[in-house]
Amino acid sequence: MNNYRYIYFMKILIIEDEIALRNSIREYLEGQGYICETAGDFQEAIHKVHDYEYDCIVADINLPKGNGLDIIRALKRMQSHAGIIIISAKDALEDKLAGLQLGADDYLTKPFHLSELNARIHALLRRKNFNGNTSITFNEITITPASQTVEVNHQPLSLTGKEYQLLLYLIANQHRLITKSALAGHLWGDAYDQAGTYDFIYTHIKNLRRKMMEAGGNDYIKTVYGTGYRFG
Ligand code: CA
Repeated sequence: MNNYRYIYFMKILIIEDEIALRNSIREYLEGQGYICETAGDFQEAIHKVHDYEYDCIVADINLPKGNGLDIIRALKRMQSHAGIIIISAKDALEDKLAGLQLGADDYLTKPFHLSELNARIHALLRRKNFNGNTSITFNEITITPASQTVEVNHQPLSLTGKEYQLLLYLIANQHRLITKSALAGHLWGDAYDQAGTYDFIYTHIKNLRRKMMEAGGNDYIKTVYGTGYRFG
């Protein structure tokens, strides 16, 4: 396993067949700084959990072409370390109990507030991965993934979700050439294909750099002309 990836990026798979709900969960969690992928039916979900590693899986139980409980079974067979949160309909008490017995970590009943889901994910990842207080330091910069907070010279720095992800990615790849397309792929996933330009990356880089320097940090982000960036 690539430990850097594991520590720096919290990757979440959202398994939900209701498109509007799936999209709103994704949008919300991405805004919180998570990397999100989605699956809209059982087959797609099973393929993704076999092919990729996730830190957390948010799974609806009633899915087209299968049952979310079988996804939990598959994860346990694979000895996956992913945290599992079940989301289910109000009247599906048995599903909930079965899910918890199979090894799901938590559950939420629909409808729920996205902020509640976020709090559950946060608590789960904190329990599973960080025991509360692991942090990553690069000179005057300290990042605490469990709380998704950044400090510069011991002063809290207020970043948007994307700026936070960007900073983590830059630090995880310090002293290496980071191409714009790698950045776009990691931080925006398939959404960046639609943009047709990398101008949006520049805007986030510019804002991150400005905030870091205003906080008294050094300017570690070097532009590599025509290609991308280098950090450190
Ligand atoms: Ca469903």
